[in-house]
Amino acid sequence: MKYYSLNNPQRIASFKEAAIQGIAEDKGLFFPIEIPKLEKAFFDNIQHLSKEEIAYQVISPFVGNDIEEQELRQIVRETLAFEFPVVPIDKDVYTLELFHGPTLAFKDVGAGFMSRCLRSFVKGKKDKVTILVATSGDTGGAVAHGFYDVEGIEVVVLYPKGKVSSIQEKQLTTLGKNIKAIEVEGSFDDCQAMVKKAFLDEGLKDCHLTSANSINIARWLPQMFYYFLMYRELQHLNKPLVVSVPSGNFGNICAGMLAQKMGLPINHFIAATNANDTIPRFFSSKAYTPKQTIETISNAMDVSDPSNFVRILELFAKNAKELSNNLSAYSFTDKATLELIEEQYEKSGYLLDPHASVGYLGIKEYAKEHKDFTGVFLGTAHPVKFPECIEELLDIEIPVPDRLKDIMKGEKKSTIIQNYEELKGILLK
Ligand SMILES: *Cc1c(COP(=O)(O)O)cnc(C)c1O
Repeated sequence: MKYYSLNNPQRIASFKEAAIQGIAEDKGLFFPIEIPKLEKAFFDNIQHLSKEEIAYQVISPFVGNDIEEQELRQIVRETLAFEFPVVPIDKDVYTLELFHGPTLAFKDVGAGFMSRCLRSFVKGKKDKVTILVATSGDTGGAVAHGFYDVEGIEVVVLYPKGKVSSIQEKQLTTLGKNIKAIEVEGSFDDCQAMVKKAFLDEGLKDCHLTSANSINIARWLPQMFYYFLMYRELQHLNKPLVVSVPSGNFGNICAGMLAQKMGLPINHFIAATNANDTIPRFFSSKAYTPKQTIETISNAMDVSDPSNFVRILELFAKNAKELSNNLSAYSFTDKATLELIEEQYEKSGYLLDPHASVGYLGIKEYAKEHKDFTGVFLGTAHPVKFPECIEELLDIEIPVPDRLKDIMKGEKKSTIIQNYEELKGILLK
């Protein structure tokens, strides 16, 4: 498979080149030149396929010859070495729990796959690669975990000071070794802007920077895997599938929509956002006008200028009608998010994290005007990662899973910066 830059269709790259480079020189995101279609037999037979086999079949056309088959199968196996349960929540409503990985976030899948691909690409090379990543909370932990102690790779994580949860901060700042944490006085969008600027800075050429945000194809594409796994569980219901994705940077939902283009029978997507409602407003006004980022309790979605939305537009060849048939977008307040967490807990004992709650609100909103579908919302993070708001609301204590206990004991190490020049100084050191 080859990829082109969304800013210049003449700029073509291989999987390997696009994964190492992250973003094209012209700031364009890489996008596959064609979308492979899976055969009907694949779906007819999906019940009999292991999750590793499904994932391999899905990803192999995108990787091509850049990683040989046995190694790619191994990468997929290691990436998916945890559970992806589909849990019934209410009549015709399910959640796909994506938080059983090493850092309890769905980003473990993308980060795990990407880190193993890069590991394979830099093996035996002289030059170090530096992964520069901006995080609104979960990316940083997943990426840091994925690349921890990998020879030839340095990781620099930028996060907005005081705007990630305490567990998320621990996951970023306590590892040490090749992982460097930087606190930015600003918002996630400020962090993301600095990262984009660094990639285009000629003065940093020798640092071999690459990104591990969902702008990187090696992080974006594997997010398709669990949409297929979810379908395998729910196929027997024989009802139209509507999937609601709590969205911030729109990488996760965009991967689902790519899976749909490959033939996965999903009828409709819902982009559920918090008060950062650039895309819901885009759908109602047709104008793309990001505002200042607003802080919410679903902080991993505090993004007002979502990088991956251009990929969604590209998927639908800028056909607004087809896009709106496939995608609805709604925004929800923190108040509604908390009320649903409380209601669901009292009703069934099931604990939604604030992001999943926004996703569930998306299904409920859609159900006001549509009947007879199976609704699935993605559970993108474990509730224990957001104890501050949940424990107070419900007057409960969420038990900390064992694998997080060690991290909580670790000592925080970070550097605080105010502007791009300070970041550049750190990278050049
Ligand atoms: C990153 C994240 C999101 C948003 O995913 P995008 O791909 O950026 O839209 C949602 N929920 C959680 C918990 C996250 O960490």
